Amino acid sequence: MTQKSLVDELQQLQLAVELIELGARLQVLETETEISRARLVKLYKEVRGVSPPKGMLPFSTDWFMTWQPNLHASLFHGFYRRLKAQGASRMNAFVKAYRFYLEHVGEDEPVLALTRAWTLVRFFESDLLEVANCKTCSGHFVVHAHTPSHDYVCGICQPPSRAGKTAARRKAREELALEQSAAVASLG
Ligand SMILES: [Zn+2]
Repeated sequence: MTQKSLVDELQQLQLAVELIELGARLQVLETETEISRARLVKLYKEVRGVSPPKGMLPFSTDWFMTWQPNLHASLFHGFYRRLKAQGASRMNAFVKAYRFYLEHVGEDEPVLALTRAWTLVRFFESDLLEVANCKTCSGHFVVHAHTPSHDYVCGICQPPSRAGKTAARRKAREELALEQSAAVASLG
């Protein structure tokens, strides 16, 4: 085995461990590394102490359009875009952006689980989703691709009636403010 392949293998293992720690499902690991399924299952058990959950990923783009998930997805993807724009590689940007997201929502059970965040990135790469500017607050939000976006108003500026409670709206505002301060503080 050459030195290059050993280094490459080590980097893949490090990425896999990091993704497992952050909550990745097996399908994410199988897609993003060249490590065999058997080794990934073993690695998963070593890192988390349990077998990986079985089953396919059921997510559709519609989940990201619902009110609260859309705010979380937009926050995460804003970090991801900035890191990519600064030259970070795809998976490097992904892991860092997800860590920023976790830091800023500060929840043990985040709305946007890692596997969902990964699915979001893949939907963007398949041109199923894109970003629109809210005409009221100028924030960037995840929308279905190929939808007219010049009149777009985001879920914070115009929450649906059942989500329009003051507390929920205030929390969403805080999250957006956090995103902006985070962008300045952590990303220079
Ligand atoms: Zn807005």
